[in-house]
Amino acid sequence: LLDISEVHKFYANHHVLQGVSLQVPEGTVACLLGPSGSGKSTLLRCINHLESIDAGRITMDGTTLAYEERNGQMHQRPRAKVDKQRQDIGMVFQHFNLFPHYTVLQNITLAPSLLKKASKAKATARALELLEKVGLADKRNAYPSSLSGGQQQRVAIARALAMEPKVMLFDEPTSALDPELVGEVLKVMKDLAAGGMTMIVVTHEMSFAREVADSVVVMDGGVIIESGTPAAIFDNPQQERTRDFLRHVR
Ligand code: ATP
Ligand code: MG
Repeated sequence: LLDISEVHKFYANHHVLQGVSLQVPEGTVACLLGPSGSGKSTLLRCINHLESIDAGRITMDGTTLAYEERNGQMHQRPRAKVDKQRQDIGMVFQHFNLFPHYTVLQNITLAPSLLKKASKAKATARALELLEKVGLADKRNAYPSSLSGGQQQRVAIARALAMEPKVMLFDEPTSALDPELVGEVLKVMKDLAAGGMTMIVVTHEMSFAREVADSVVVMDGGVIIESGTPAAIFDNPQQERTRDFLRHVR
């Protein structure tokens, strides 16, 4: 589904992604691990095109994201086209970024109403379905500030799903949560994976990665140093840097 090929990204002179290639087949979950500053968030932001890339390409369903080839050169697509492509990519951040002045229900229906021009009735019905799925149907009229962090993050997941994305990107979705709230969010993500959603998850939750990931991808210094099944990475890592990283997070 998602094919990331030789992606490079610079921030000024800082070469943050140094040729990252990764395939994420439809219906699979890739967990992205690595030390702070290794480029995990940057990679997700490039996939979602919150950041432009300086070389390489990212394709979804065989279509290049954000760039198109003309006369043998890559050109940035017009903004409107990029925005349209981004609707297929859901993203959930460490900090949930809900709209504080909207209710839970309004948070979820806003984007579909604005962008997909779903009728209000349709958007609401779908939002209620999603709230049911994340276990928060009774909170539909609450405001984000009255919810726990775990509840807010579940709303953020429902909000991303409301756009019916083909792939979901998670950037440390539980690392801002109190430990007792982590489980309820991971549970929603597990259900999503079991339902066949294609996902890339940056996480420090090794038990989640071991249980849910189809592939575990380890980044360091802007490159993928190792990837494989959870068993291969956790039980038999080939790279010293992977072993070193795992020692620190365990
Ligand atoms: P963490 O585990 O701490 O979230 P990460 O693997 O997500 O780390 P990134 O946030 O992708 O790492 O950052 C990779 C490198 O790029 C870091 O050296 C960071 O300082 C740099 N960087 C990230 N965003 C920017 C930016 N907007 N401008 C300049 N440099 C940036
Ligand atoms: Mg990060």
